[in-house]
Amino acid sequence: MKKKFQHIYKLNLLVLLYFTSIPQAISQTNTVSMELLFQKAGLVDVQSIEPAIRVNLSYSTENNIFGKKLYDDLRKCYLQKEVAYKLAEAQKKLQLCMPGYSLLVFDGARPRRVQYKMWALVSGTAKQWFVARPGAGSMHNYGAAVDLTILDNNSRELDMGTPYDYFGDLARPDMEEKFLMQKKLAKYHLLNRRLLRKIMLEAGFKMIPNEWWHFDGFHPDQIKKKYQIIE
Ligand SMILES: [Zn+2]
Repeated sequence: MKKKFQHIYKLNLLVLLYFTSIPQAISQTNTVSMELLFQKAGLVDVQSIEPAIRVNLSYSTENNIFGKKLYDDLRKCYLQKEVAYKLAEAQKKLQLCMPGYSLLVFDGARPRRVQYKMWALVSGTAKQWFVARPGAGSMHNYGAAVDLTILDNNSRELDMGTPYDYFGDLARPDMEEKFLMQKKLAKYHLLNRRLLRKIMLEAGFKMIPNEWWHFDGFHPDQIKKKYQIIE
């Protein structure tokens, strides 16, 4: 009998520990600001390297494809140092060929905890194909990818044929020629996208086939070897 009571006591203690420690751990990670999290991970603010780069983080507002503010009050774009220097290089290349133009960043480093939130919002819907699964992680979760467009010399976004985060084939670089033939995209949309690609690829970024705005700082295999996911 004594042994049995001991067993129940231990079990109760374990249950108590579970319910008191887990919520605490979750709330602790959620209260650490994203900025502090990125700084602790060794990431840098791209505008501290190249102030001409403009930043408007889509997920720090409700004005995004999810219709929800998914970030805290972060206003700066953080990236791994090497990737931030590549982006500064891209901005210089843009200014050389199009004086007065600048890059406009929509997203840089993104903690995986936000990736889980995004996934929960689209899982089981047609939109889930457009969001990286949090298990494997997005290149944004490594602080090594950037989403961006170009502003002209009047600070107007170049027309790329779709808005940022458009969930559909019209955003796909690998289908542009087909959409041009079908007159769903105009020649100037392609020229604007090509300008963005030219300066980003020349600066050492890698493009992906499905989003005109997304670029990886290195090949994904290299990113996974070089960096760790920011939780
Ligand atoms: Zn992206």
